[in-house]
Amino acid sequence: MVSKCGKCGWMNFELAEVAPVGANFKMYFVQCVSCGTPVGVVPFYDLHTSIKALEKEVKKIEAQINMALPTLDHNIRVIAQKLK
Ligand SMILES: [Zn+2]
Repeated sequence: MVSKCGKCGWMNFELAEVAPVGANFKMYFVQCVSCGTPVGVVPFYDLHTSIKALEKEVKKIEAQINMALPTLDHNIRVIAQKLK
């Protein structure tokens, strides 16, 4: 089955970058090549890429915490010893 534009019946579609009023970020309309009627909306920013970048940041923070933990542990033991 071939998708057709609901307005003019054309069968070719394109992505068009749009900045809808009130939206915080740009989007792409999937629209009819012939008459420009939108038939769908796609996020401008690729979610997969964003999630991968966030995963990288979380791993970096995790590594920093793991590096700091032994020092923190040591310092707490020193404080605990001095409080005795
Ligand atoms: Zn059309």
